[in-house]
Amino acid sequence: MGEVPAEFCGYEWPKDCERFEYDDRPFLDKGDSHWQTTCVRETLPDADRCAWHAAPDETEHKSIETLRDARVPAEIRTEEELNESLDGAVLAGVEIRDELNLSGTLFRGANLSGTDLTHANLSEANVRDADLSKANLTGADLSKADFTAADLSEVKLIFTDLLDVNLTLASLSEADLTGADLPEAYLSFSDLSNANLTDADLSGADLDDTNLSEADLTGADLSEADLEDTNLSEADLTGVNLSEADLTSADFLNTNIGHATLTGAEFANAELSNLTVDCGTTADELAEPEPLSPLSAFQRDEPDGDENESNSDQNETETNPDNETSSNDWDRTARAYHDLKTEFHNNGFVVKARQLHIRERRARRRETAVEEGWFSRQHLTQFVSGLFTGYGVGVWRLVGTMTALFAISTVTYALAGVADPLTYSTITFATSPPRPTGSLPIWARLVANVETFVGTLLIVSLGFVLGNREQF
Ligand SMILES: [Zn+2]
Repeated sequence: MGEVPAEFCGYEWPKDCERFEYDDRPFLDKGDSHWQTTCVRETLPDADRCAWHAAPDETEHKSIETLRDARVPAEIRTEEELNESLDGAVLAGVEIRDELNLSGTLFRGANLSGTDLTHANLSEANVRDADLSKANLTGADLSKADFTAADLSEVKLIFTDLLDVNLTLASLSEADLTGADLPEAYLSFSDLSNANLTDADLSGADLDDTNLSEADLTGADLSEADLEDTNLSEADLTGVNLSEADLTSADFLNTNIGHATLTGAEFANAELSNLTVDCGTTADELAEPEPLSPLSAFQRDEPDGDENESNSDQNETETNPDNETSSNDWDRTARAYHDLKTEFHNNGFVVKARQLHIRERRARRRETAVEEGWFSRQHLTQFVSGLFTGYGVGVWRLVGTMTALFAISTVTYALAGVADPLTYSTITFATSPPRPTGSLPIWARLVANVETFVGTLLIVSLGFVLGNREQF
């Protein structure tokens, strides 16, 4: 009887949306022209809301047909470049599949829990704050869709293309993202705990502060991903590619990194304990700061010498803060190597632990170079230890040094006219030069003394290195 408003749905967003609490989401753009919407669709015969807003259990008319009929005609949508408002729509448990084109629609705060959206087109849709828990999005087109703060727990996204999808603050716990394409995806602060990310492509993805605890990342590609402050505790990272990933302050408690590649990864301040590693874990080359070269000592001195005194004071104050940062960087690198070494040692991988010991000691040497100077006594001692004994564990370096000493000495004795230079050198190396030495020229006698002294030193060092290696 002409009571026009009664025939219209009148659903107001966000006022009528139970899911939406404005106070919790201060970052949402209030100034958006689509901020508030009122639904002017016709009500269903058995409900006071339209096909989109009526609860599925309150009506028998919620079908693909009624949903399609209640939409703004496609021609108008394209002509007006209209982002149709389906905000607050209730489609829980409805089988939409690819029957409706939902591209570019506003689905803010919608209830899509358990909705079958297999192969649906949701590209460029705004799905902020929507409930998509247990929804099936397998094969759906989600390109450029905005899922900020959406609940995607236990969602199915198997082999779904999520290119350019915004999942900031989204809850994806227990979501099935097997083989999902998420390169360079923005997932900061998202909850991906217990999610299945097997074989997912997360290369270059933004995962800082993301909760990936207990997630299954077997075979996933996390190369160059930003995992700063990320929680990876109890996660399965078997076979994961973490090369050049930023894992600063990440939590690796009880993580499995068997067969994982950590080459070039940044582990500064990461929590690395109770890791499961195996022979396929590649962790011997982490990201390292730029080492101080012996030349840099001269390069820094040059301007000091040329300039007057007041300027040289300035130079000192300018270079010191750099040095401090750099030595801290080396300290963090050394700690990361140390922690990884401990994990390999605990898992019984002696050779890998030894390799990491060399890396750790080298990082410590470079820290000394920055702090004390390249030509300082401490640094030179460590440098010689590294060069000739591989920091006390490199047996082949020592054997090489011994061979070189023996060969050079033998050639010297041959040139000096010794009858049997090989035997002469062997005796000299192991004990002392055979007497009398008077018949030899002075330079050959000098070599003989050096061979005796250094030879004995190297034999003792070999015993030390062989014993030291067994600690790993
Ligand atoms: Zn409505």
